Order: sequence, then structure tokens, then C-alpha cells
Amino acid sequence: MAQRKVFLYQPTGKANETHAFIAGRHDGLYAINHSRGCSHGCMYPCYARRILKSAYEDWIVPQIFKDAPEIVEREIMRNPNVEDVELCFTTDPFMVGQPEMHDISNKLIDVITRYGAGVTVLTKGDLTEAASHPQVKYGISLISLSESFRRKWEPGALPYAERIAGLKARHDAGQPTWVSIEPFPPADRAENGILELMDNLQWVDKAVLGRWNYARVNDAEYYKDVAREFYWACQKYGIDCMIKSDIMDKSNEEAKL
Ligand code: SF4
Repeated sequence: MAQRKVFLYQPTGKANETHAFIAGRHDGLYAINHSRGCSHGCMYPCYARRILKSAYEDWIVPQIFKDAPEIVEREIMRNPNVEDVELCFTTDPFMVGQPEMHDISNKLIDVITRYGAGVTVLTKGDLTEAASHPQVKYGISLISLSESFRRKWEPGALPYAERIAGLKARHDAGQPTWVSIEPFPPADRAENGILELMDNLQWVDKAVLGRWNYARVNDAEYYKDVAREFYWACQKYGIDCMIKSDIMDKSNEEAKL
């Protein structure tokens, strides 16, 4: 069994931008990653896989930390500063075909909320698998509506229609919902526009837009237009929105896929 001694940690800097917006606060933000690896196997490439320096074939066979709920309970008992916990930052709490991961994620939701903190969930899996609790904010990552795009770039993740349906079920149950539209693809890879995407998500409470990590030299104008349309759609539907600060960041211009 994969083992780790510490789970709760505080991501710093830009890593907290989205969590702070969704949680509505800047203090007491923590994250838990109770697996190393993720069977969704995103090809963008996955930022988490890059920073953890894992080979793709190892990454898509997740090592799940089964003792995470017990350890987190001890950690959270000793730490009165925990206000909201993100599940997850470098893996996915509701990975497709990983019921053990779902079970541990739900135990973590139970532990964290019992000690009075909130939970911010983000997944490319099925939110109908997640435990219901009023202190949870349910989120999906969604950057396209095209299944051919998903099969190429997010081969192990849940099909888009099912992913949206899982989030909509949470909304219909009166629970807070949000969407992370990151990394929104560049013009030559996008198979639909941001307006079409937002039309399918018009009932969410919050939405975040971020760029493809390794955009090309002439993408700044394109992302400016995407951001403008995203903002306009959010105003139209009454969605509380955030455009990530590096959406037109020229520092990415040198990098290429
Ligand atoms: S869902 Fe997230 S953690 Fe999993 S492979 Fe994709 S980008 Fe990486």
C-alpha cells in the first residue's frame, strides 16, 4: 500500500488563485492529494505529472493513499487554521473507474466537514459519486464539448456530457457548483468557442477561465477575445467569474508544444 505521513498542505502563489475565488477567502486554504498519479492521463501535458516528474505509463496507474482519512483527521484536529480544503490539486478525487479513490474522497469530505471546514472539489470524473454536504463546492474541469477532443487530450476522463450532467445534478439539488475552464485550448486546437461552452453551463454559480500552458507567439490577441466573450457570457447568465491573471501572459510565448 502506498503510504505518506502528511497530507494537508498550503499551496502558495498562483496555485491558490482559483481556490481563493471559489472558497471566497484567502486565509486557511489547504489542499490534499491522496493519490500519486491519475488515470485520466491528460495530454496537455498534465502540470501535476510534470512537477512530480512521473513517466506517463506510471502516472496513469494511480497509487492511492488508503490511510489518508485517518491521518487527515489527526492533522485537522491539531490545526485550527484550516478553513477550506481543495480536493485535489495534483490528482483527481473522482477518477473514472477508481471506486477506492471515490470512497477515500468521500471519507475525507466527511472528516473535513465534521471539523467545520469547507471543501472545494474539482474533477474530470462523475460528481454523482461524491458525498452530499452543504459545505462542499462541487466543480468540474471542462475545456471543450467535443468528444474527439476529449479522447485525444483527456483520454481517461469522463465524457463531457456525463461530466456536465453530474454537475447539473448537484445544481438541481441546490448545491453550489463551479467550472474550471482551464486550459482553454488555442485557436487551432479548440473545436468550439467559449460562448458555446458557457451556453451549456449557464446555471453554474462560479466559473474560472485560464489559458493553455504552452501557448504560441500570436495567441495573446486570441486569448483577449476569449476572455472578453467569457466575461460577457458570465454577465449574461449571472455567473460570478474570474479570469486568471496570466491569460495574456507573454512570458509563455517562448514555450512550444
Ligand atoms: S485530471 Fe488533472 S491530475 Fe489527472 S491527468 Fe488530468 S490534469 Fe493531470
